[in-house]
Amino acid sequence: MMQTDVAENLKRVLGELPHDVRLVAVSKFHPNEYIEAAYKAGQRVFGESHEQELKKKWETLPRDIEWHFIGHLQTNKVKYIAPYIAMIEAVDSLRLLHEINKQAARNNRVIDVLLELHIAEEETKYGFSLDGCRALLASGEWRTLEHVRICGLMMMASHVDDASRIRSEMTLAANFFDEVKRDYFADAPSFCERSWGMSHDYRIAAECRSTMVRVGSLIFGPRIY
Ligand SMILES: *Cc1c(COP(=O)(O)O)cnc(C)c1O
Repeated sequence: MMQTDVAENLKRVLGELPHDVRLVAVSKFHPNEYIEAAYKAGQRVFGESHEQELKKKWETLPRDIEWHFIGHLQTNKVKYIAPYIAMIEAVDSLRLLHEINKQAARNNRVIDVLLELHIAEEETKYGFSLDGCRALLASGEWRTLEHVRICGLMMMASHVDDASRIRSEMTLAANFFDEVKRDYFADAPSFCERSWGMSHDYRIAAECRSTMVRVGSLIFGPRIY
């Protein structure tokens, strides 16, 4: 028996999102039953952050689910998800980008990715500094990677109650998106995604030009680790 009314929660979150903001339902640590409930209610995009857990779910759940890998991805794990992953959201090094390109090529695919920015002040978070991201793009090496398509930026704001701080971090990310779009992707309509907003701050994210929010616990309930 599910303890959470997933369909009801999903409806509530979707009801609060502007129509042009996509929902990635973050299902990590939740069983198939929960994902199936969201799927039945129409949700098709799900986010996971552990390769083995994702593999089990991918093998047993409907094939038209779009899986987004949202966690930190080790280069030695890329090969396992490369055959089927719809988007890798948290690319934080050129090395990882190279590995995704290599594994995508092996699978005759082009894999969509986002570059992860580190803007929050928390120490433990991965991602490029703005200057690190500028340097990566300026190097031009990414242009040779024909099996990855950089579709935008992803970030996590500081996990705080202070809405103005969250807003200023997301605004910084949105402004940086404009800079990168202008300098490198002006002719690339596929560079269009701004992935920010989680359960506690997705409403703020929608005000700060997010195109994709990653919401977990508000839909599926607390995670049991
Ligand atoms: C777990 C996770 C989320 C979802 O967090 P909730 O607070 O449960 O909404 C979003 N983004 C990333 C990168 C995550 O790891």
